[in-house]
This record gives sequence, structure tokens and C-alpha cells, in this order.
Amino acid sequence: MLDNLTQRLAKVVKTMRGEARLTEANTAEMLREVRLALLEADVALPAVREFIARVKEKAMGEEVIGSLTPGQALVGVVQAELAAIMGADLGPEASQLNFATQPPAIILMAGLQGAGKTTTVGKLAKYLREKKKKVLTVSTDVYRPAAIGQLQTVTAQAGADFFPSQATDKPVAIAQAALDYAKRHFHDVLIIDTAGRLGIDEAMMQEISALHAAVKPIETLFVVDAMLGQDAINTAKAFNDALPLTGVVLTKLDGDSRGGAALSVRHITGKPIKFAGVAEKLDGLEAFDPQRMANRILG
Ligand code: GDP
Repeated sequence: MLDNLTQRLAKVVKTMRGEARLTEANTAEMLREVRLALLEADVALPAVREFIARVKEKAMGEEVIGSLTPGQALVGVVQAELAAIMGADLGPEASQLNFATQPPAIILMAGLQGAGKTTTVGKLAKYLREKKKKVLTVSTDVYRPAAIGQLQTVTAQAGADFFPSQATDKPVAIAQAALDYAKRHFHDVLIIDTAGRLGIDEAMMQEISALHAAVKPIETLFVVDAMLGQDAINTAKAFNDALPLTGVVLTKLDGDSRGGAALSVRHITGKPIKFAGVAEKLDGLEAFDPQRMANRILG
């Protein structure tokens, strides 16, 4: 079991009790520990570097108040900064879905296969049903009929409506037909589940870009598996380059990953993490909590 960051820093700074300010000299070794903690939490290196630079800038000259050691003061800065980067400074509205549009509000789901898109559609449908929204779901995954069946199942469990799609149709035509149906039946929200591949590929990106252009969703959510670790950054980059994302859903936070993917994805996309998936069940969706995530990443 690894020590948490506070304990590790306490070891480093025993000798520094009594220092009045955080300085380049008394934080250098501590910042190395912070860097290690982030790498152990699977934060991608570019994100670690940027974060350390920010912390350094914030910490220099910061007063060490009362009984705090420089180590404890630095942990405070690190925690606050990490929470800020992950959305604490955006305020609680950042994790809300945007409905400021003519209904139906369209939510487009993007992400690799296995990320948890279909499950998240079910969870979102349930969450929105509880808010008394009339919800329609549709799958454009014409490559995997089983995925369409899976969406139908979770949609029924969520108490939402399902628009059946034919595997012989084109994804854009399916989405347009579903949108048409949603308008005629006064749905408040249309959630579009899309095909994912095991890795990034050009055809997948073109397909989802075309879907985006055709239906102009108000929310384009990038769904990413928290267990993905270092690879999260490449996946996030590919989706962020291909699509104007509006938010992120980080899934499988009930697993044992420290969740460094959260920081990597924020670093690349700059988009708010809106929700966290915390169970396979449909009630396993929570509004993302930057403070809690910061504590988890720091271990
Ligand atoms: P998709 O290919 O992106 O649509 O992914 P799925 O929705 O089919 O999810 C892939 C697997 O991850 C399934 O076994 C889900 O039950 C599981 N899953 C999705 N979200 C979560 C989560 O938040 N926690 C856990 N433990 N499992 C999840």
C-alpha cells in the first residue's frame, strides 16, 4: 500500500519545520513527490508537467500558516489547484446538461467501444426521466446488432422510449429519422448512441463528425473509461480534434484506478467532466465532484 501524498510529503519535510514560506528551494523535492503521485495515478506526462508548473507558480511565496509545515501547505495548494483544474473553479453549473434549445435537446455520445457509452445512455435516460423529461434513445451502431439490442434493454429499464434502427440503414439517416420522430412525439431529449471501435480509426471519426453535422447536438459527450490510464490522453485528443465536445463522462470509477484519466482528459479537452459512472447499474451515475476526484488522484 502506497503512502498517500500527505504522508509522503511529511517524510520529506520533517527537517523543514519552521520555514515561513514556500520557496523554490523548500518545494523542489516535494514537487518531485507530487509528480510521482500523479504518475502513479496514471496521469499522462504532458498533463503532469503542466500541472506541476501551475502548482509551482501558485505555491511560490505562499505563506505557511500557523502549525502547518511547508509540506502540508503545499498539499493544500496541490489539492486546491487540482480541484480547480478539474472544474471546481467552473462552479456547479459546469456539470449540468445544457437544455437551452428548441426541444428535443440532442445528446450525442462519443467514445471507444467498451468505454461505457450504451450503459451511460441508459443511466442518463433514467436520470432525465426522474427529472420528468420525455426521453427517446437511438443507436447508430449498425455494425453490432447486439449493441442496438443492449440499448433497447437499458432504455426499457430506464422507462424511456426507444427508436428502433435497422442495421441496413446509414447512421446519419437513422439519427435524422429518430429526430423527426422525437419532434413529432414531443420528446424533450434525444440521446444518440454511436458505434465505437476498439481503437481510434479514421472511418469512425468521419462517421461521428457527419452525425454531429447532421443533427447539431447541444451536448456532445465524450465517454471515457477511467481504467484506461495513460491511453486516455490519446483517445481524448482524437475525439476532441474530430468533434466540438461539450463535456466528458468518466466511467468505471468504481474500479480500483486512481482516476488520473480525469486530469489527462481535462488537460487535452479543457471541457468539463459532467458525470462519473460508479457502477454497472443504471443508478450508478453521479454528478462529477472535482474535490473528491482531486483527493482520489492524490491517493
Ligand atoms: P460501449 O461499448 O461504449 O457502449 O460500452 P458499454 O456500455 O457496453 O459498457 C462496456 C462494459 O462496461 C459493460 O460491461 C458495462 O456494464 C461496463 N460499464 C459501463 N459503465 C460502467 C461503470 O461506471 N462501472 C462499471 N463497473 N462498469 C461499467
